[in-house]
Amino acid sequence: RQHVARGLPKLKPVAGVKQTIVVASGKGGVGKSTTAVNLALGLVVNDPSKKVGILDADVYGPSVPKLMNLKGSPELTENNLMRPLVNFGIPCMSMGFLVDETAPIVWRGLMVMSAIEKLLRQVHWGNLDYLVIDMPPGTGDVQLSITQNIPIAGAVIVSTPQDIALLDARRGAEMFRKVNVPVLGLVQNMSVFQCPKCLHQTHIFGEDGVKELASTLGVEVLGDIPLHINIMKMSDLGQPVVLSSPDSPEAEAYRKIASAV
Ligand code: ADP
Repeated sequence: RQHVARGLPKLKPVAGVKQTIVVASGKGGVGKSTTAVNLALGLVVNDPSKKVGILDADVYGPSVPKLMNLKGSPELTENNLMRPLVNFGIPCMSMGFLVDETAPIVWRGLMVMSAIEKLLRQVHWGNLDYLVIDMPPGTGDVQLSITQNIPIAGAVIVSTPQDIALLDARRGAEMFRKVNVPVLGLVQNMSVFQCPKCLHQTHIFGEDGVKELASTLGVEVLGDIPLHINIMKMSDLGQPVVLSSPDSPEAEAYRKIASAV
């Protein structure tokens, strides 16, 4: 309704999807994909009656296949739609399923757009309560075209508390506002490291940067995830912590984010 009221064309939803949530970041490497995957799983852990899917829109550096421990190519349905690959009960679609894992992805802008369009529309998602989209980092054409193609319930923006990451996270938040996508809140990642030997806590990237940015933007901090070796190890094994270490504080932090969206 908001889009119509503002004179923009009404956006066509992804078939079968009730709500789309995008997980974005200003920079690469801040933990966006890890958050997207654990958020998606957290939504199901919090309410097992919900159906959740993941779309990896990070076409240049798809990480969802590894994070969700999925390999292979999607089969086609009778209607020539791609069937998502499924693990942990979550249907997933990623450029990583369509191209060679080690091949460099060198595409021109238009090819990327058509790839994104295919990943969104040519997929048999089934009925989903939530589609979680792992966005590419930054505020380029791909991000804009996604926000202008489908209705988005809200954006979750992930950042470390480091000035240089915060600057770009802020740009991301402003972009979503410009295109009328509500910013649901920020996630502060890698804020604190606790030495496993002496238990001393170090704020490697700063302590409260994301909290300060959230208050500047007038949005919430949805979660504060520590820098923890378990998150990295389990992610690399394709065993997201929400499922593999359900009693850990980090799993709890991801579930809290899921309950806030
Ligand atoms: P992005 O999607 O922003 O590029 P990723 O989610 O791929 O970032 O994370 C980058 C790397 O950092 C990965 O190796 C991931 O396992 C690791 N990582 C992310 N968040 C944490 C964390 N809180 N603690 C430890 N390692 C993390």
